[in-house]
Amino acid sequence: MKTIIEPFRIKSVEPIRMTTRTERAAKLRAALYNLFGLHADDVLIDLLTDSGTGAMSAEQWAATMRGDESYAGSPSFERFQAAVQNLMPFKHIIPTHQGRAAEAILMAIFGGHGQNIPSNTHFDTTRGNIEASGAFAHDLVIAEGRDGQSNHPFKGNMDIAALEAFMDQHGDSVPIVMLTITNNAGGGQPVSLENIRAVAAVAKAHGKPFIIDGCRFAENAWFIKQREPGQGDRSIPDIVRDCFAMADGMTMSAKKDAFGNIGGWLALNDDGFAEQARVRLIQTEGFPTYGGLAGRDLDALAQGLTEIVDEDYLRYRVRTNEYIVERLDAMGIPVVKPAGGHAVFIDAKRWLPQIDPLHYPAHAVACRLYEIGGIRSCEIGSVMFGRQPDGSEKAAAMELVRLAFPRRTYTQSHADYVIEAFGELQAEIDDLKGFRITQEPAIMRHFTCRFAPL
Ligand SMILES: *Cc1c(COP(=O)(O)O)cnc(C)c1O
Repeated sequence: MKTIIEPFRIKSVEPIRMTTRTERAAKLRAALYNLFGLHADDVLIDLLTDSGTGAMSAEQWAATMRGDESYAGSPSFERFQAAVQNLMPFKHIIPTHQGRAAEAILMAIFGGHGQNIPSNTHFDTTRGNIEASGAFAHDLVIAEGRDGQSNHPFKGNMDIAALEAFMDQHGDSVPIVMLTITNNAGGGQPVSLENIRAVAAVAKAHGKPFIIDGCRFAENAWFIKQREPGQGDRSIPDIVRDCFAMADGMTMSAKKDAFGNIGGWLALNDDGFAEQARVRLIQTEGFPTYGGLAGRDLDALAQGLTEIVDEDYLRYRVRTNEYIVERLDAMGIPVVKPAGGHAVFIDAKRWLPQIDPLHYPAHAVACRLYEIGGIRSCEIGSVMFGRQPDGSEKAAAMELVRLAFPRRTYTQSHADYVIEAFGELQAEIDDLKGFRITQEPAIMRHFTCRFAPL
């Protein structure tokens, strides 16, 4: 069958408040053209992020009632730990309130002045935690991963030759080797099992721990099953176990592939490092059997981990993105191909060549998409990355609009609605004008800066 159906029924609904284009234009003006400044009630389809915005299942909500809030030794922790270790065979599982808390603890152990940490592409919170410790973050993704038109099946792969050269050059100043699956900052593109094996081998040859940022491990395993020779007949849990068996530890945001609204963890094999991590955890998060979470959260995650590896779910999840990319591509709208696991990216530089990158073409697309359809997306371009530490401005490498899909939250007709809104946007594309920033903070300006239309 060609029709994509959601592999679930809905038993609890949340109404969407319908608004008119005139109302939305006024809301956008009032928010000074920053989509982060909108009230979520004024958004029809919120594709700002897939982080913590997914729908929990009936079994997850049931599990929250089983949650045990004992300060120490909670059975909720035992269930959580067993669910993680069933997929990721690490010795020590350390719960945290979200992914960045796991990263902060990892960097308290391995970061520090003058250290150099390679990855395919560090996610921005990982980079932030590395740099805050005084270390440097290096991105060594393959060249195809930077090319929006390459059809390489694993555009998230690490450039192994570059990694080897990096290890030879930086030697002792490299505390760990990292790898992000899927490569979020690179468009949700997957990493192959073969590449994970090769990265692990380089790390091992140099005697360095290999740590996976595993936020979208299930989507990555689905791509491996679909695309990697010899993997098609294997189960998703088996592929996941293979990926993590090669690593010495992982960081995780459970707001992604664990179906959580909150949560994360750090996992390590080494007893000494785990001991250091738990000391830090007690200082900053909480006792080791709850980390930064309630017992009920741990139970919801334990259940979520059994659901995320379901093939019917993963097929529907990835197929929805592919469907939107195919339709937009057929309409002549420049999209990044192939579709990633959790998001669709529009290439605004190619769509709006008349707008200078420093007048933020991707921001102009995101604003007009909200006006037309009430759809909230996210600019990933010169608004997000253009401001330099000295306060000057430099165009980012790409001007992208990201549509990130919350898990199990929207339906196929919502996808068709998004496509229709893009059709209307295309009809108006020549009218779009750029923006200028009228007020901005010194760092992370995209969250709070104000704009005026040109
Ligand atoms: C979301 C994310 C993080 C950070 O996790 P939070 O739960 O948002 O703190 C780290 N790495 C990747 C790849 C992510 O997608």
